Amino acid sequence: MLRFRFRILVLVSFLFLWILPETVLVTAEVSPTEVSPAEAERFGKEIRQHWVTEIPLDESALTQSGIRRLESQHLILYTDLAASGQVDELPKLFDQLIPLLCDYFELNRQNYESFKVEGFLIDDFEKFKSGGAVLQVPKLRNGYALRCRIWVRNPGSDYYRRHLLLHEGTHAFMGYAFGVWGPPWYREGTAELLGTHRLENGHLTLAYFPKSRNELSRWGRIDLVRDNLVKNHGRTIKGIFELDSEDYDENTAYGWSWAFAAFCENHPRYRTAFRQTAWKLYGKPDGAAERFLELLLKNIQKESPEWNEQEILFHLDNDWIDFISHLDYGYDFERTKIDYNKEAGLISSDEVEIPVCSDKGWQSSGVRLERGKTYRFAASGRFQLAEKPKIWWSEPNGITLRYYQSVPIGTLLATLIPDIEERFLTQTETAGVGFYVPKTIGLSETWKAEVSGELFFRINDFPSELSDNNGEATVKLTVLPVTD
Ligand SMILES: [Zn+2]
Repeated sequence: MLRFRFRILVLVSFLFLWILPETVLVTAEVSPTEVSPAEAERFGKEIRQHWVTEIPLDESALTQSGIRRLESQHLILYTDLAASGQVDELPKLFDQLIPLLCDYFELNRQNYESFKVEGFLIDDFEKFKSGGAVLQVPKLRNGYALRCRIWVRNPGSDYYRRHLLLHEGTHAFMGYAFGVWGPPWYREGTAELLGTHRLENGHLTLAYFPKSRNELSRWGRIDLVRDNLVKNHGRTIKGIFELDSEDYDENTAYGWSWAFAAFCENHPRYRTAFRQTAWKLYGKPDGAAERFLELLLKNIQKESPEWNEQEILFHLDNDWIDFISHLDYGYDFERTKIDYNKEAGLISSDEVEIPVCSDKGWQSSGVRLERGKTYRFAASGRFQLAEKPKIWWSEPNGITLRYYQSVPIGTLLATLIPDIEERFLTQTETAGVGFYVPKTIGLSETWKAEVSGELFFRINDFPSELSDNNGEATVKLTVLPVTD
């Protein structure tokens, strides 16, 4: 069974130290009027006025080379691929993409009705040398975008061909609308997020999160990230912000960029900030990370003023660690969203009883443990872990018929998220500190807290299989008297 190790995440908690103190705190008071798509579009228009005229294409030379020309509202596609439904439908697919991009970036669809891209879908690169079609692209690995031209190498998979077209189309659209794409993590993250799609009965859905490995042929982003984690090459959020253009010679960088974009897109606390970063790329594109964090702080504090900047960024770190620890096809974002409890307090000498739902990820217990004190956990209850083909019942010591991350499913797990001032007191692999190495509680455990912090529980199960769980465990928690 797969068990991720997280030594590589040692720097995760330093995210806010790296970026917060001066840049974010000083500029956190951004007027809402500064964040506007209209302003970003004005900048885009200004940039477009300085675009050079594209090298004209010699259409007859292209035709002589056997290159077909397909046209729709938003795309003229030149391709040497033989006519087929999968290829010839691409311009119409592209016509669905543009209004969806307008919606994603909150732009007026009417302003982009005449936006048009010239695309080159290439099987034999040599054929495109005539007609001036690849003069701007001496080397083409998967795809490339320049102003309103895009180039795609035919990948030999219907899904992945569409994916690359939508990915490059997103680059072209952002370049046209905003004049800039931002640094690699944002540029590629956005294009990967929106390129990952579902096409059902001709209807296009962007930012699709795949339910199974076989669903999106040759896509493999989740596998790339998981392979990296197994090899101790995981990336912190800071590490993703630091990806540079050369890193994208390897598909792994696309995997990490997609993972971070998908994490933000599917998490209600982070979605708006990630999307709105697109409006704030102008002027200082390398500052996108700071602007993303500024937006994030502003949005969260508007909703939850009780959290300070350090706490919000610490939650971001912890949420990211939890996400990549369990990243899988069909990941259940809704049930794994973690709510931190500002009111969580220390327990008195009385026993407290805490319910733990079997159909959720980490759940705050509502209490904090105190460093150096010893606690007794006694868990009970019977809950459902699967429905079909028959109901699987479990108690807090789990079912040894099936394991997730080396622990029987159904096992009660616990961990502490340290108080801000205690976050560096332990090693990152200390069991029961942070979300990446939980402590196994089972039916009973006695545990001396190594840090003071909020106590979380979870019933061990696959993150894609929480929806068929039902019922809860109950934990009786007691603080033991100090004996020495
Ligand atoms: Zn790209």
